[in-house]
Amino acid sequence: MNDLTCIIIGGGHVGLGALKAIKEENRGMANGRRIRFVLIDKQPGHVRKMLLFRPAVGQEEIMIPWTHYSFSEGVEFVQGTVMSVDSRGKQIRYEDAQGNDARMHYDLLVVAVGSIVRRPDPDQGGVALTDLQTAADIRKRWRANLRKAVGETNPVERKRLMTIAVAGAGISGVETSAELALEMQKEVSSLGLNPPDISVYLLSGQERLFLEGPEKVGRKLDQILSECGVTVLYNRKVMREEAGVVMFSNGDRLPVGLCIWTIGLIPNPALRTMGLPLSPDGQVLVDESYRVQGAPGVYSIGDCARIVDPRNGKADLMRCAEGGLQADRLGKIVLADLEGRPAPVHKSPSSIMDLFCIGLGENRGLVWGRKWGLNMIVTGKPAWKFRNLAWDAGSKLR
Ligand SMILES: Cc1cc2nc3c(=O)[nH]c(=O)nc-3n(C[C@H](O)[C@H](O)[C@H](O)COP(=O)(O)OP(=O)(O)OC[C@H]3O[C@@H](n4cnc5c(N)ncnc54)[C@H](O)[C@@H]3O)c2cc1C
Repeated sequence: MNDLTCIIIGGGHVGLGALKAIKEENRGMANGRRIRFVLIDKQPGHVRKMLLFRPAVGQEEIMIPWTHYSFSEGVEFVQGTVMSVDSRGKQIRYEDAQGNDARMHYDLLVVAVGSIVRRPDPDQGGVALTDLQTAADIRKRWRANLRKAVGETNPVERKRLMTIAVAGAGISGVETSAELALEMQKEVSSLGLNPPDISVYLLSGQERLFLEGPEKVGRKLDQILSECGVTVLYNRKVMREEAGVVMFSNGDRLPVGLCIWTIGLIPNPALRTMGLPLSPDGQVLVDESYRVQGAPGVYSIGDCARIVDPRNGKADLMRCAEGGLQADRLGKIVLADLEGRPAPVHKSPSSIMDLFCIGLGENRGLVWGRKWGLNMIVTGKPAWKFRNLAWDAGSKLR
């Protein structure tokens, strides 16, 4: 009998999890047919997107070769960009790494093309932390600014060169600003500059940090950030950065050497032309078992899919934590569908427990959980350890 081809589009946090879960649940076979697994991604390896700020701060490598994973044995990896899905003909069209147009047949397809980091308009200046290239560019720029500051005799200009603004105070803005401030302090000391002269501002358009949970968690985060050397400015809507000055909607101005935008995620815009049914926000429409509407054998999970808990109508957030649970469940769903049994149904993780963890530089962190109305906050080294576990779990390193 012919092999059954299972293609996974996207080897991000969730696609990788889906590959592992489907492979392990099905043990490589379906109704006596061998399953041939193909993972197709634009990138040559798995990018640890949650750690995107690391190469903006230091030199950490955040791309992991596909072959690193034991569950990758027997999987075919194709570097290519999927352009469209022909759900009638059961094939995908993609552009391979050499730019050639190619097609591949599937029996099962998992669409996990994720999200992209939101960019401001080009005339708003600054640099958005969107990918590995911009991360490397950010690091180059702040380090060049510090080297310029060494020879700068004008104290106002020196201060500007030693100032960074991070616009957007969600979790990625919080983590980016904390690690940046700590790394800049190290670099400044080695250059003979004065560490207290560094200023890292985290610019929030809201009244407080961490709108996902209680006010006291936001206050605690503010306190830890301040210990790292980050000043949070609240109720500040950034209009643009121009010629080294950040301009706010209230007319205030802040001279900076660099402005970094961390303004959240949007569903992958490539979905718009892929031929799958989409929500008005651009996420793939799926049923309660992640099956794409009107496309037999096609599933979609992660940031690119609109996944709703049928019991309470709550949509999952675009988070790795949510996507990881979806991937585990998808392994069981695919097995049940192949065997013609009722499949598991999506359950929102927040119906079980709210849980957020935030890294704030070596040995600093904050974990907040809420269950049955009870709040739990962990900080310091244990939170940092938990944070590292979560980062590793998200990339299937544990
Ligand atoms: C800086 C930052 C910090 C974050 N911190 C957290 C956090 O602390 N906790 C948390 O839960 N979440 C966090 N997130 C969100 C988390 O990263 C996402 O929810 C997660 O990456 C979603 O995984 P995914 O696999 O669905 O999508 P992605 O990680 O976006 O992966 C999509 C994959 O598809 C590939 N791809 C895209 N288009 C195509 C195409 N056309 N053809 C082929 N391949 C394609 C991409 O190369 C990529 O490998 C953070 C995000 C950022 C940017």
